[in-house]
Amino acid sequence: RPRVFSGIQPTSGSFHLGNYLGAVRNWVAMQDEFDGLYCVVDQHAITVEQDPAVLRRRSQVAAAQLLAAGLDPQRCTLFVQSHVPGHAQLAWVMNCITGFGEASRMTQFKDKSARHGVGAATVGLFTYPMLMAADILLYQADYVPVGEDQRQHLELSRDLAQRFNSRYGETFVVPKPYIIKDTGKILDLQDPASKMSKSAESEAGLIELLADPKVNAKKIKSAVTDAEREIRFDEENKPGISNLLRIYAALDGRSIKELERAYAGHGYGDLKKDLAELVVSTFGAFKERTEAILAEPDKLDAIFAEGAQRARALAAPTLDLAYDRLGFLPAV
Ligand code: ATP
Ligand code: MG
Repeated sequence: RPRVFSGIQPTSGSFHLGNYLGAVRNWVAMQDEFDGLYCVVDQHAITVEQDPAVLRRRSQVAAAQLLAAGLDPQRCTLFVQSHVPGHAQLAWVMNCITGFGEASRMTQFKDKSARHGVGAATVGLFTYPMLMAADILLYQADYVPVGEDQRQHLELSRDLAQRFNSRYGETFVVPKPYIIKDTGKILDLQDPASKMSKSAESEAGLIELLADPKVNAKKIKSAVTDAEREIRFDEENKPGISNLLRIYAALDGRSIKELERAYAGHGYGDLKKDLAELVVSTFGAFKERTEAILAEPDKLDAIFAEGAQRARALAAPTLDLAYDRLGFLPAV
């Protein structure tokens, strides 16, 4: 089975609809056909300051949500990044084969650092893409199922794998992006120029899977649209409505074309009302399932322990090979 790796940051109390449709849902769907490694990337989370108690809790909540969404630790490897030291070890190697100019071109760093001024950003935020490359290459992953926002980072991972291979000899599989066209970029409901994001300035445009259903319904009903009346998919001129149609189609099974036909002659209010109901019913039991998993912390710890053990065993030979190729003396 082809190998798949992906990760999610424990940077919020709940996944949002973009995380779910762009990433997590596909991880669940890929479990049987692929050999999946799914990781709560706590080391990525500390690229911005985190409260330790909150971080600890959010890592548990992230894993519980992955299980509630349908990941099955019998069929995939679910683990926490900091439990496998190889990620940080290989990240250093990646840092040393990345050009400073190359890293400076990463748009996510530019966007995230601009919020507080580049001078206030950590070096960790700058080297985030190299840690991400290490995450993927450490497991010789063939595919990386992520949202569209990660495409540039994945391109860098591929460049680094190829660079290492051509300098030091075949070592890493060159990973391919696995990005679903229709759901790879879910937009903020209040600001359809930006992607829905855990670290958005305002929560108003965010559908959080663990939020009160009434709050989510209200957010959908007050989503930003446009001054027309026609329900039509047109990303350029109608980004708000197009985003709602994308979400609707992803959850409903009907295509966007079919939805356009079904809502011909209807107003935006009808679309929003139906979509709000669909979202509420789709995630109706998600919170309960997540809470039930969190209520058994020993079971969760056992899943983490087993996942870390499997991940460490998979990572070790690749790290050894990379170290050897680089000219590091064997540790005997
Ligand atoms: P942050 O803003 O803190 O980076 P995030 O919302 O981007 O948070 P991540 O943990 O960085 O969440 O990303 C987890 C996965 O979700 C990644 O594969 C990412 O590409 C995907 N993803 C994030 N936002 C969206 C979105 N709006 N649409 C589709 N996929 C998304
Ligand atoms: Mg992100």
